[in-house]
Amino acid sequence: MDFSARTVACPKGFSNHSFHIITPILEADYVINICKLKTHAMTGYSGGIKNLFGVIPGLEKPQMHYLWPNLHDFSRMLLELAQTVSPQLTIIDAIDAMEGNGPTGGTSHPLYMLLAARDLYTQDYFAANLMGIAPMKIEMIRQAVEAGLARPSEIALIGDAVPENLTPFQMPDTKKLDFTGNVPGFLQKPFLFFAQRLMKSYPQVNRDKCVGCGRCAESCPAHVIKIENKKAKFRKKGCISCFCCQEMCPVKAISVKKAL
Ligand code: SF4
Ligand code: SF4
Repeated sequence: MDFSARTVACPKGFSNHSFHIITPILEADYVINICKLKTHAMTGYSGGIKNLFGVIPGLEKPQMHYLWPNLHDFSRMLLELAQTVSPQLTIIDAIDAMEGNGPTGGTSHPLYMLLAARDLYTQDYFAANLMGIAPMKIEMIRQAVEAGLARPSEIALIGDAVPENLTPFQMPDTKKLDFTGNVPGFLQKPFLFFAQRLMKSYPQVNRDKCVGCGRCAESCPAHVIKIENKKAKFRKKGCISCFCCQEMCPVKAISVKKAL
């Protein structure tokens, strides 16, 4: 197994202008991006674009959350990463998808479908719709449409027809009061600045479930988690609400608490 990584240029990058990517991806002749369809605590939706965050080596992922702590910038980074990797084919497994507190704490929501496309941006737009999620309320999809990467008007479905009356997916707790998706892109930053304190979500640990494994603390880019007496202890100050901790917890001991 090759765990090495190399730095590659990202001319369209807005910060580092490069990404550190695992070598097997860089050396592959053909990249097939395979992912599960699910809701996600930070981004709301996780499909082909978000899955490519997996090409960043393990513990560098939390660092990237720390570099781009707000959803607008993080989504932009994801799009730039997707353009850098540029997979030839993306397959979204929606046979058994996930709703609720994804990416790891959600519940099963089977759609019994596989979605394959060369254009992962438009595919994510289509897949969000299948989940009953307005695609333009998902920041990375909205930016993909605005950048001309996703072209919803060109969707052409080949294969079985989509069943009618699909049940909408439950959103993660972090998104249930999130109305930032309704704010135009150019107002996102000033709006978020004022709304942040009211709308911010924080992780909350269920001490009865916590087994003190420390995986949340290892993955926290802001270093605001300590293990004390074999239980995780969170400090609100400094938390960037990335929910890496929730993603890593093996016993689903971390839930979401809204400041509002
Ligand atoms: S406590 Fe959790 S949500 Fe907050 S910064 Fe650390 S990993 Fe992210
Ligand atoms: S990852 Fe979960 S079980 Fe492990 S210390 Fe953190 S909260 Fe506890």
